[in-house]
Amino acid sequence: MERKQFKTEVTDLLQLIIHSLYSHKEIFLRELISNASDALDKLRYKSLTENFTTDEMRIDISFTEGDKRTLTISDNGIGMTHDELSENLGTIAHSGTKKFLANLTEEQKSDSNLIGQFGVGFYAAFMVAEKVEVVSKAWGSDKAYKWASDGREKYTIDEAERESCGTTITLYLNEEGKEYANRWQIENLVKQYSDHIAYPIYLAYDQNTYDDKYNVTGTEHKVEKINSASALWRRSKSELKEEDYNDFYKNTSYDTENPLFYIHTKAEGATEYTTLFFIPAKAPMDMYHADYKPGVKLYVRRVYITDDDKELLPTYLRFVRGIIDSEDLPLNVSREILQQNKVMSAIRTASVKKLLGEFKKISEQNPELYTKFIEQYNRPLKEGLYQDYANRDDLLELVRFKSSEVEGYTSLAQYKERMKSDQKSIYYITGAAEETLKNSPLLSSYKEKGYEVLLMTDDIDELVIGSMGKYKDLDLKAVNKTDAMDDFADKKKVAKEDKKVAEKIKKALGDRVKDVKVSSRLSGVSAVVVADSNDPTVQMQQLLKAMGQTGMPESAPVLEINAEDPFVKKIALSEDETFVADASSVLLDQALLSEGVMPKNPAEFAVKLHSLLI
Ligand code: ADP
Repeated sequence: MERKQFKTEVTDLLQLIIHSLYSHKEIFLRELISNASDALDKLRYKSLTENFTTDEMRIDISFTEGDKRTLTISDNGIGMTHDELSENLGTIAHSGTKKFLANLTEEQKSDSNLIGQFGVGFYAAFMVAEKVEVVSKAWGSDKAYKWASDGREKYTIDEAERESCGTTITLYLNEEGKEYANRWQIENLVKQYSDHIAYPIYLAYDQNTYDDKYNVTGTEHKVEKINSASALWRRSKSELKEEDYNDFYKNTSYDTENPLFYIHTKAEGATEYTTLFFIPAKAPMDMYHADYKPGVKLYVRRVYITDDDKELLPTYLRFVRGIIDSEDLPLNVSREILQQNKVMSAIRTASVKKLLGEFKKISEQNPELYTKFIEQYNRPLKEGLYQDYANRDDLLELVRFKSSEVEGYTSLAQYKERMKSDQKSIYYITGAAEETLKNSPLLSSYKEKGYEVLLMTDDIDELVIGSMGKYKDLDLKAVNKTDAMDDFADKKKVAKEDKKVAEKIKKALGDRVKDVKVSSRLSGVSAVVVADSNDPTVQMQQLLKAMGQTGMPESAPVLEINAEDPFVKKIALSEDETFVADASSVLLDQALLSEGVMPKNPAEFAVKLHSLLI
């Protein structure tokens, strides 16, 4: 028997694991299964390059109950030689682990939650076992060896027996680990962490048999495959049918509907990874909750790492479901490390590009599907306009708007196509209801000129437009703001008398208005309300209030009057102060009404209107 001392870094790691990881001790199984899968990968690779056949490649788990509980994980992979056993299990093989350890501060070492996210390799076994035995036979060797240790400083290596190549790891479970000698525990953990390992995982267990009266008549030994072993995303696209993708989606997402579409990408080169994204047919229920559950799962070489990382994709893509599987990340990757990890950020950047590119393609090739997509996800995409500056130009092409001129949705590019030759800007109007906006008196002069106006009814539209700035070289101007007036080339000089009536009405309305202006763009209506260029519109103020945003100071609207209108003319001519006051008040309230905003005091409005009618 050989007795050897662990290298000091192993002793350090063992201490760290044992002290920090108890709340996540179940990850030991994920680590051991992942190692087995790697060993199988290596043998498979060898068999492919050297042209030999192997038995079914598999992982077997068994356990013993009773006083001496054990758990055994066995693979028929590449195995380890005597020297490899000593080298791999006596030192820390993975350079990432070493670095990770070196970088941890004392404080981090004592934070079990932090460390719980990490993969820690083979040594995690010592959290649940007082002794670990590894019997291994390397491929092509005729000798097997047994490595054994209690995880305290020393280990031994002996000659052993093993029929064919592979590795069998037996854990002699300690008090903390004895719960894992249980069929349901194992099945659950495998489902949670290792379901998509490419090799089948079999669990052996004994099941009682019963007679009619439920008396135990004996036990039956069963071996059952407990993972789906599909790792569908790792298979080549040409092998897969749409149905395979849809089934996979429904099995993994709890959605009963097929996705709108999916995007399967295998990236090779500097960073190797596979992504499989699904766009659900219906927006996830929690899409607008601050504590939404992210839909993308991170795997490293098919081993599940996390489904709770909101950084995998930008928040505006939170409706995307699916998988990112990296070849290059270490298993021991934590949330904190992920955020600064170069590999991860390269995957993220490329994934966003891929998704946006695919959305674009669909918008061009399958407008019907794109409309379904937009009906669900237009709003989150708009958020992207102020969250993701780098992809703003692409996002500008993807978002859609309703319009005064066309049915359904339009893109900015289509709007630009339809623009009149003398039109200077893109016009839009914001408000709560599409129908109200469509009928707004503000649109009449635009309609006359044949200028199209985008109808913006999303609560975030004003915010979005604010950060959008321009589309190509075109300004976006709100029809219901004062500066849209400037674009009317035939701006008439405002006559002195007209200015006077504006002042008269302003005086009558007091602080209910910010200003009263003579309009150059109204016909057929007496007045409209607009917002001063930097103020939110009245509709938007209402919307924000309805959404519970109360902190905002209310800003009074600007009243734009049509000096040609007989009612306005009547005010201009009147000397009767009561009439001027009532008429001005009614003028403002009916302008508000036609924008879908209730007058402050509806009863008073009715009374005043009545008095004007008799
Ligand atoms: P990591 O898997 O991160 O490299 P581990 O501590 O889990 O670190 O394992 C150390 C090394 O031991 C592995 O890199 C591998 O070479 C070897 N090893 C572990 N388990 C097995 C196994 N089941 N079959 C073959 N080799 C193994």
